[in-house]
Amino acid sequence: MRRSATLVALLTVTTVLVSGAESGATPTRPKVPEAIGYGGAVASIDSDATAIGISVLRRGGNAVDAAVATAAALGVTDPFSNGIGGGGFFVFYEARTGKVHTIDGRETTPMSATETLFQENGAPLPFAEGVTSGLSVGVPGTPKTWERALQLWGRKSLKDVMKPAEELARSGFVVDATFRGQVANNAARFAAFPSTRALYLPGGQPPAVGTTFRNPDMADTYRELANTNLRSLYDGQIGKEIVQTVQQPPKDPASTLNVRPGKLTQADLARYEAPLREPSKTNYRGLDIYSMGPPSSGGTTVGEALNILEPTNVKNLSQTDYLHYFLESTRLAFADRNRWVGDPAFSNVPTSELLSQKFADSRACLINPAKALTSPVAPGDPRNPTPCATTGQGVAAEIGSQHTTHLTTADAWGNVVAYTLTIESEGGNGIVVPGRGFLLNNELTDFNFAPLFPGVPDPNLPAADKRPRSSMAPTIVLRNGKPYFATGSPGGASIITTVAQVITGRVDRGKSLVDAIAAPRASQRNSAAAQVEQAFLDQPETAELKNRGQGFSTAPGEIGAATGVERLPDGRWLAAAEPVRRGGGSAAVVFPFRW
Ligand code: GLU
Repeated sequence: MRRSATLVALLTVTTVLVSGAESGATPTRPKVPEAIGYGGAVASIDSDATAIGISVLRRGGNAVDAAVATAAALGVTDPFSNGIGGGGFFVFYEARTGKVHTIDGRETTPMSATETLFQENGAPLPFAEGVTSGLSVGVPGTPKTWERALQLWGRKSLKDVMKPAEELARSGFVVDATFRGQVANNAARFAAFPSTRALYLPGGQPPAVGTTFRNPDMADTYRELANTNLRSLYDGQIGKEIVQTVQQPPKDPASTLNVRPGKLTQADLARYEAPLREPSKTNYRGLDIYSMGPPSSGGTTVGEALNILEPTNVKNLSQTDYLHYFLESTRLAFADRNRWVGDPAFSNVPTSELLSQKFADSRACLINPAKALTSPVAPGDPRNPTPCATTGQGVAAEIGSQHTTHLTTADAWGNVVAYTLTIESEGGNGIVVPGRGFLLNNELTDFNFAPLFPGVPDPNLPAADKRPRSSMAPTIVLRNGKPYFATGSPGGASIITTVAQVITGRVDRGKSLVDAIAAPRASQRNSAAAQVEQAFLDQPETAELKNRGQGFSTAPGEIGAATGVERLPDGRWLAAAEPVRRGGGSAAVVFPFRW
């Protein structure tokens, strides 16, 4: 009796989760920030995308298949944060070998790019003018990432895993306040492009909450991509249309927006590779922390901040002391990130030196428990760690865009994927490729438009065939060589502080994963004032932190939107997502109960 009641409950839950996408009906799914169970787990910002990932796991796919299927669905329902016009970093724990692999699907500059890509008459362009332009479009890396991941580790074909998202784009999904809000934020520039306007501003307005949104052009594009094994994008018709859109931005002649063309060519698309890279790795309190190395600064900067905290018994600190140390650790790590990290093909990034405990100790030496450092703190030299020594000029990191997405998956075999993907700004460069239903990225604005200081080497200037420095930090934490938890977040440069905060929250401060994800955020990136959420300022510790010289400024909105999975000691998977940020994320497991 008991068993059949469980079975009925299980079938009800899984049917609710997958029915919409598979039947073509308009799905309306509740968003759940935490789920615990068996057979695998998916956590993403969107309930339709999570349900699609779960449906792939239920049909025998593994964590890699589920990650690609979830990402393809996010391209439909969260199109202002990611999509086939963008790039990302895919981190995979392979249960069979116990190894962690990473794919670098970062967008890349055209061969024509030079250091002055974003300069005119010897001066850098205003940032906003780089954003909505053809200049900022890098070769998309997301489709290649999917292909590479599936070829190397998947059980399903690209066609299989893209199919549910294609159907979702065709049958539609329900517009929520987040989707509508993102269109509203971008309405002025979206209106300047007839292709974007027709899709996202039907009747001149953002789609109303509760209505069904369909994107048949994207459905057709997904089908074409899958049928041609991506050839159409990297060496065919879709690519041709991307190039045309970049070189002659399809702007409404009536618009006064100055939209600069870019020089991307089909040869640039054809040259693109999504290489495997060594993951960044550091040890924190006996755990192995794997993340994304250069061209992302995510892995080295999260790792360095943790290493700075390593000698301190963070577990036993008061909440005020913990927050003080946390803010100081990322302040210092950012000073080093800005000086040393860029595309490793162009400068010698001292990755292992940045992650050495000796270097971290030489930086931790600067922390005064009673008094905050004065930013910008100058960087250290990881090649020659000297206690408390600094060198050169310090610089704060801008937050950058806030609109990327992170998904996390796990399967019955014990594989785990942490995947962060983006089109950079909310809405990318604002231009939907006409007739294709997807937005292009503006990822090249992650480069510095001009050297930060004359005479100080800057590893993040544009050049031909170069990848801009990222902050994305999809992270997998192993305990005794086996998955403990995985996490990641959007949020531009604040990704790094969010991921470090989630890790310390979970590992040191006794928080559950979902509570660590939900905690009020603070992002200190080597500036006088840390960017914080209002909820952070409302904490009782703030007054004492201010006494110690910590400065705070309130972020315009939320910081980050993390997801994660965790392997519980009894073998169950826990999926975790934001309870509130971005309208709440969606966590699910394959079987909520033991079968
Ligand atoms: N483009 C950013 C990066 O790679 C991510 C943007 C965001 O998170 O909003 O660091």
